[in-house]
Amino acid sequence: MNLAKFPRTRLAHLPTPLEPLPRLSAALGGPEIWIKRDDCTGLSTGGNKTRKLEFLMAEAQQQGADIVLTQGATQSNHARQTAAAAAKLGIDCHLLLEDRTGYNHENYKYNGNVLLDVLHGASIEHRGPGLDMNAEMEAVAEKFRAEGRIAYTIPGGGSNPTGALGYVNCALEMLGQFVDLGLNVDHIVHATGSAGTQAGLITGLSAMNADIPLLGIGVRAPKDKQEENVYNLAVKTAEKLGCPGVVARDDVVANCDYVGEGYGLPAESTLEAIDIFARTEAVLLDPVYSAKGAAGLIDLIRKGHFAKGEKVVFLHTGGAIGLTGYSHVFDVAAKA
Ligand SMILES: *Cc1c(COP(=O)(O)O)cnc(C)c1O
Repeated sequence: MNLAKFPRTRLAHLPTPLEPLPRLSAALGGPEIWIKRDDCTGLSTGGNKTRKLEFLMAEAQQQGADIVLTQGATQSNHARQTAAAAAKLGIDCHLLLEDRTGYNHENYKYNGNVLLDVLHGASIEHRGPGLDMNAEMEAVAEKFRAEGRIAYTIPGGGSNPTGALGYVNCALEMLGQFVDLGLNVDHIVHATGSAGTQAGLITGLSAMNADIPLLGIGVRAPKDKQEENVYNLAVKTAEKLGCPGVVARDDVVANCDYVGEGYGLPAESTLEAIDIFARTEAVLLDPVYSAKGAAGLIDLIRKGHFAKGEKVVFLHTGGAIGLTGYSHVFDVAAKA
């Protein structure tokens, strides 16, 4: 495996910190919890998509793109990081935003990630729920091409084999940090959605023979579907890297018990996770992804899934700027 042979445009502040969470670990009374701070990748308030965009935007530049298109939910962190990357590289950005929640709150529609999309100069169009958003985006890209533009399209979440290379890179970075700190890690846990993060991580971990179980906590699809999506992408990512067959189906594990009513709709456990992390460690989680991942971590600790003394790394995938788009779910007026 040689990651260095792929074009890459530096966008992220790397390596991101790997830190202990002693107060959270004590509060939960289970394993020793560590956090990998991919919320601190730096680009326009950070997040996991920036690692993927290092490889995706390099490909766009190589193709001479003058406009990149992507799609996501209204409060998409991926759309915002793509808008930011494009601004930094002097490429236009066009976003298709899907209304997946039905929320009509001003902050949801115009604050948080949407505010930053606008500040980075992206053009935006909207879609109702339930369409094939990648197909919608390709149709719009064709219109730009008909006008003579060189359009580069990025699938939702940046999750294709090129984007997943960013999380192969994260796996290598973490393994190096574990060695440097003398940290014998027993589990890695993170939120999984469009699958590129988990696919890249499992490919990197497997290629390095790391033997550290990886658990994705789902935010949308049911377990079978999520694992299938991750596995299929990991297979393609391993082929791209020149190590075909390195990922075993059994090593792809997702737990989708913490989705609640649906994508982008915070459950009670989501809000509790935001509260616990903010009060014990001053770590801000987001209501769509990282807090659902953390809710899974918290519940599994309470159920004794991780042994006392084990070391668990929670990969924080970012998204806290989305909190301002979800102010209506926090009872702020009663407390402030
Ligand atoms: C996109 C995203 C995820 C999920 O990553 P995928 O690669 O789409 O599975 C997790 N957390 C945050 C904050 C995200 O924006």
